[in-house]
Amino acid sequence: MPVIRQVTQLGHKVLRSKAIEVKDIAESSIQLLIDDMLATLADTDGVGIAAPQVYESVQIFIMASRPNPRYPSAPEMEPTAVINPEILWCSEELHKDWEGCLSVPGLCGLVPRHKSIRVRYTTRDGFKTEQEFGDFVARIFQHEFDHLNGLSFLDRLESTKDIITEKEYKKLMGIALRGKENECLNEKNGSTTD
Ligand code: ZN
Repeated sequence: MPVIRQVTQLGHKVLRSKAIEVKDIAESSIQLLIDDMLATLADTDGVGIAAPQVYESVQIFIMASRPNPRYPSAPEMEPTAVINPEILWCSEELHKDWEGCLSVPGLCGLVPRHKSIRVRYTTRDGFKTEQEFGDFVARIFQHEFDHLNGLSFLDRLESTKDIITEKEYKKLMGIALRGKENECLNEKNGSTTD
């Protein structure tokens, strides 16, 4: 049975470490970790989570885009495990939008990200794949990829003036204060966002 793991909070050194490459994806401890990450993400109703956020410094994250108020046309995506990811190319065009993070509760930031990216990663079945992502999915990928390199969205801000509280974010977006489902972008709920 997958276990819902505790989410690492900002300040723990695992969130500042470079995650190590996964050598044997078929290994049961890796497959179990992926199952636990899927369960943990589902429990938060988020759209992404990286292994360091469950205290495991390995190069794995889950992406799970879904339509939400800020990105009504965001693709509905089966939660996907991304292993040993590389960003092969990114557009020069940057786009600023709001993100939040399960490891940084209570805050949202206006984060510049590349509008589109071309990436390579290995699936949980061990297949290497190359894909291009844009907009919301590209944003999730870049946010989670940063976690594997010891970075949080706060490190990507142009100014500390681009940080607001979740409460103010909800007011700004006209999102009803309905609890956990309605948090800001990234890892926090998609029905509100990541
Ligand atoms: Zn995060």
